Amino acid sequence: MKVTHIKRDCISCGACAALYPDQWAMDNEGLAQLLDSVKVGENFEKSLELDQVNDYQEAESVCPVNIILVDTE
Ligand code: SF4
Repeated sequence: MKVTHIKRDCISCGACAALYPDQWAMDNEGLAQLLDSVKVGENFEKSLELDQVNDYQEAESVCPVNIILVDTE
């Protein structure tokens, strides 16, 4: 299970960071940063434990440009 963030397409709405400030932060360019993630290609990824999946799925559902992608497999 993992979450992927396509950071380059962030429109800086701040919804993810407002919802889960311990998991998302707005960087000094005004883009969301997936905390505790690693850069994979152009994106950022973080492995998830089962009890973390719901939080990231909520962020996935509020992102207006659908660049937060939770993979539950
Ligand atoms: S919800 Fe989506 S568009 Fe808004 S700041 Fe977070 S990643 Fe960026």
